[in-house]
Amino acid sequence: MNTRKGSISVKTNDIFPIIKKWLYSEHDIFIRELVSNACDAITKRATIARSQGYEIPEGKVKVEVDKANKTIIISDNGIGMTDSEVEKYIAQLAFSGAEEFVQKMKDMGNTTAKDEIIGKFGLGFYSAFMVAEKVEVESLSMTPGSVATKWTCLGDTDYEFSDSTKSETGTTIKLYISADSEDFLDTWKLKETLTHYCDFMPYPVGVLDLSQADASEEIINETTPLWKKDPTVLTDEDYKEFYRKKFPMDQEPLFWLHLNVDHPFTLQGVLFFPKLNANKPVQENGIKLYCKQVFVSDSVKNVVPDFLGLLKGAIDSTDIPLNVSRSALQGDPNIKKISNYIIKKVAESLKKLFNTDRERYEKAWEDIGLFVKYGCMQDTKFDEIMRKYVLFKNSDSKLVTLEEYQASIPETYKEKLKEKYVYFEKNQSDESLRKQLLSEGIHVIETDQYIDPHFMQHAEMSKQGEQSFKFSAIDSEIENILETMTTTADDIKVKDFFKHVLVGENKDLEAKLDVDVKNLKNASSSAYFKVDENMKRFQQMTKSMGNSAFSMPIKKTLVVNPSNTLIKNALKIWEKGEKKELAEKICHHVQDLASLSSEGLSSEDKEKFVTRSQALVQELSQYIV
Ligand code: ADP
Ligand code: MG
Repeated sequence: MNTRKGSISVKTNDIFPIIKKWLYSEHDIFIRELVSNACDAITKRATIARSQGYEIPEGKVKVEVDKANKTIIISDNGIGMTDSEVEKYIAQLAFSGAEEFVQKMKDMGNTTAKDEIIGKFGLGFYSAFMVAEKVEVESLSMTPGSVATKWTCLGDTDYEFSDSTKSETGTTIKLYISADSEDFLDTWKLKETLTHYCDFMPYPVGVLDLSQADASEEIINETTPLWKKDPTVLTDEDYKEFYRKKFPMDQEPLFWLHLNVDHPFTLQGVLFFPKLNANKPVQENGIKLYCKQVFVSDSVKNVVPDFLGLLKGAIDSTDIPLNVSRSALQGDPNIKKISNYIIKKVAESLKKLFNTDRERYEKAWEDIGLFVKYGCMQDTKFDEIMRKYVLFKNSDSKLVTLEEYQASIPETYKEKLKEKYVYFEKNQSDESLRKQLLSEGIHVIETDQYIDPHFMQHAEMSKQGEQSFKFSAIDSEIENILETMTTTADDIKVKDFFKHVLVGENKDLEAKLDVDVKNLKNASSSAYFKVDENMKRFQQMTKSMGNSAFSMPIKKTLVVNPSNTLIKNALKIWEKGEKKELAEKICHHVQDLASLSSEGLSSEDKEKFVTRSQALVQELSQYIV
C-alpha cells in the first residue's frame, strides 16, 4: 500500500482576518489585553530590577483618548522592547513573550513569576486590530544602550519599522480607531470598559481625555483588591465598603466569606450573601471572575453551581484560564475542583455562623433559607454539612433545626414520633389541629408550598448519616398521635349518618369524599379533613412545578369527632326524624367549617355556606325569642 504524508499549511494572510474577527466575542476586550500586557511589562521590569538590585520608577499605565484625532494611546513604563523583540513578540502570531519570560525566571530560580505574569497565549495583542485600522508600537527597552523603535501595521500581514523619538523606558501603543468602533472614543464609554475589565489591575491605570484642555487624569482601578488582603486585618467595615462600591444599588450584605487557598489550586475571593429584594428578581451575575486581578467573566455558570448564583463578589484564580472563549471554561478540570471548594467553603461559613452567632443566622434565614434548602437538594457535599442547619418555624414561631424539633417532642410521645416530623402547611393545614397538638406539648414545623415539598422529599430519599427522616402532614398524622378511645357502635352511627347525608348514592361525590370518625384527645373541633400523605405529596409536586394538567382532585376524608356536642346533637335530631332537614344542614355546615379551617371554600360552596348560615341562625333565634 502506498502512503503519503503531508501537513496542513496555513497562510497567515488568510488566517489573520479570521483571528481578527473571531478570536474574541467582545470587541471591547482589546482594553483588557493591552492593559494587561502593559502590567506584565511593568512586572517584568520590576522583577529584573529586583534581581539585579536597582531602583525603578513606580509602575504606571496611562490610557489617553483623543477624539479629534480618533486615537487611543496606551502607554506603560515597563520593560520595553528593542526592534528585534517587537519583531519576535509582536510580529509573530501566537508566540508569547510571557511564557518565555516565566521560563527564563524559573531557570534563574524565581518561581513566583508565573503567578504574576498574566499573558499566556501570545494572541492578546492582536485584539487591537478588532477596533483599530492602524496600530503603532513605540518602545524603548530597559536594556542599557537600547535604541527606541517604532513599528507600524495596518492590520494585514505587512508592517514597517521606523525611528522613534521615545526617550523613556517603556511602550506606547497608539490605536487609530476604525470607523465602526468610534464609540470607544467616547470618554464615558472608554472609562466604563476600563472599569469593567481593569478595576483591579495591579498597577494604577489612569485615563486622560486629550480633547479637554484642562482634563485631569483619573485612576480607574484599585491595585490591591480586598481579596488579596490579609483577612485577619480586615474589618467588617472594609467588606461593607467594598460591597457598597461594587454593588451601589444593594442593601447591606447579610454576611460574607473570604476565600484563600493555595493548594491544589490557587484561589482568592470574597463572596457576599446579599439581602434579597422581594421586588427585584435575583440578579444572576453577582460573581465576577478574575485571573491575576484581570477580569475574565461575569458569568460564573460553569464555576459555581446554580444555587450559589445569588451570591455576589469576586473570585480570582490563576487556574481559571483567561480564555479566548467562554465555553472553553466548561471543559476545564480545575473548574470542577474550584467549584467543589467554593461549595464547601460556603457551607462551612454558614455552619460557623450558626454556631457562633445564631441570632444573625436566624435573621438571615428569611433571605438564605430558600438557597440553603435548594443547595441541599442540588449538591451532596453541601447537603452533608448543611442539612443539620436547615431551619423551620415551630408552633411558637421560633426557628428550629430538625434535630431540635425532634428533641422538643415530649417524652410520652417520643416513641410515636421517632424520626417523624409533623408539618403544618402554611395556609393549607387546619389551625385547630395545630392547637390540639400544642396543648399536648407537641410542636409542628411550618412548611411552604414551594421549596419545602421538594426539600422534604429529598430529605426522605437521601439519608444523612444514621438519621432518617419521615415527614407527615398534621392532617394525616394527628389521629395516630392523639387517638385515645376506640370507636364504639354509637360512633359508627355518626359515621353512617354523615356519609348518608354528605355522599349518599352520588358516585361522583364518593370518588372525592369519605367519612370517618375518630375520638381525639383534646378535640376542640367538630371535624377536620384528613388527606392521604402520598396523594398530598403528589399533588404538591405537580402544583409546585406549575403542572395544572396533572393536578387531579384528591380524595379527602372528613374525620368527624363523635364526642363533640354539636355532632352528638345532630345525630339525635336525625334519629328523632322530625327535623331531618336541620340535621342535614348541620352535617354540611360541619363539612364547610372543616374546609374553612384548611384550604378554604370554593366560591360555590361559599355561597351555600352563607345562605345556610343565615337560615341556621334564623332558626336558632326562633327558639330564644
Ligand atoms: P501574551 O501576553 O499572551 O504573551 P500578547 O499577544 O498579548 O501575548 O503579547 C505578545 C508579547 O508581546 C508579550 O508576551 C510581550 O512579550 C510582548 N508585549 C506586548 N505588549 C507589551 C508591552 N506593552 N511591553 C512589553 N512587551 C509587550
Ligand atoms: Mg497579553
